[in-house]
Amino acid sequence: MSRVLIIGAGGVSSVVVKKCAMLPEHFSEIHLASRTVSKCIALQEEVGKDRVVGAYAVDADNVPELVELINQVKPSLVINVALPYQDLTIMDACLETGVHYLDTANYEPKEEAKFEYSWQWAYHDRFKEAGLMALLGSGFDPGVTNVFTAYAAKHYFDEILYLDIVDCNGGDHGQAFATNFNPEINIREITQRGKYWEDGQWHETDPISIRKDLDYPGVGVRASYLLFHEELESLVKHFPTLKRARFWMTFGDAYLNHLKVLEGIGMTSIEPIDFNGQKIAPLEFLKAVLPNPGSLAEGYEGKTCIGTYITGIKDGEEKTIFIYNNCDHAACNAEVGAQAVSYTTGVPAMIGAMLMLNGTWMKPGVWNMEQFDPDPMMERLNQYGLPWHVLDNIESPFSK
Ligand code: NDP
Repeated sequence: MSRVLIIGAGGVSSVVVKKCAMLPEHFSEIHLASRTVSKCIALQEEVGKDRVVGAYAVDADNVPELVELINQVKPSLVINVALPYQDLTIMDACLETGVHYLDTANYEPKEEAKFEYSWQWAYHDRFKEAGLMALLGSGFDPGVTNVFTAYAAKHYFDEILYLDIVDCNGGDHGQAFATNFNPEINIREITQRGKYWEDGQWHETDPISIRKDLDYPGVGVRASYLLFHEELESLVKHFPTLKRARFWMTFGDAYLNHLKVLEGIGMTSIEPIDFNGQKIAPLEFLKAVLPNPGSLAEGYEGKTCIGTYITGIKDGEEKTIFIYNNCDHAACNAEVGAQAVSYTTGVPAMIGAMLMLNGTWMKPGVWNMEQFDPDPMMERLNQYGLPWHVLDNIESPFSK
């Protein structure tokens, strides 16, 4: 049986739902639940009630509510594409009901941006003892970037030493300012202090303070800024030979200027303020007025290029490779009515779910993507819309 319960009905969810719906042999029944049930119903009507058989309202911050829903639906797997705030409550409910779990972003407490796995890794023994699996970060970054790293380590190197993950959105959605996934999470990620791993320790940097111009295949040269991104934590743990691990993301000047102004006036703060006798977090208010990322697809032009540069040793010689994917916004819109950032997250979530359900990646415990054989995921990325390329033995754009 491959009945899945998908929680969350935003930009990423719509891709997961549609991709799963195309594959009845892997996902026999899809159930969709979220905070706003009308969004679930709209998606159900768009995809068809024969594939999305149930649409439900659920507050995923509330464990008893989740338990009741999971007991009613009786899925084999819960796919969490709500927000990182809900990871632990959904994991608790999965443990209580005996159901496997998958997500695309690590748990975040509301009060403080942390981007770390400690809370979810602490569930490992409980999941293992219950014979259940939790797959963490099955999106693109984290997700495919972890798998690219594992694939490079398996097929191209004896030892990997330097890792630079690069995330470029070379697209244009025509809006003055918009984020490509949930604005609250996106802005928290970008405005936190930068951090990278070198010589056995973390080094902090001021936010968006280190820039490098990189040439992205299929896109061109783009200003890229050093950020901390959650997959660095698990990759450094699981590949202890890494001497350095960093993450870079591209931003245009207009985006950074908007962000600077918003930050300057306190609009990106998660600290609640009093407004007409009500407590509101400025960032939550900002989210409410920004375009919904799921609505950006129409007219979005250009491509993303996300990949991993890896330098290491093969047969005694040092070399560098680049593994990457290009994803075209307009092609994603034509296929599933989504922009490429939702698509590049939703497709690996669907594939991760498929690999769990068919037993290929099934192992009790809480796991990151790089802890599994990368080959089955790499094969299916080519098959389901995210083809990748390897540039072998290239000159690294990064100095050591
Ligand atoms: P959206 O904001 O578009 O969607 C989030 C959905 O979750 C909404 O439908 C929202 O409901 C629902 N939700 C929020 N809180 C609750 C709650 N308490 N109970 C039930 N449902 C709730 O976000 P995205 O689709 O852009 O992102 C989804 C996830 O994917 C995020 O965790 C994000 O961090 C992750 N992501 C991962 C990436 C990767 O590469 N690994 C890249 C991009 C995103 P409502 O409609 O009522 O607001």
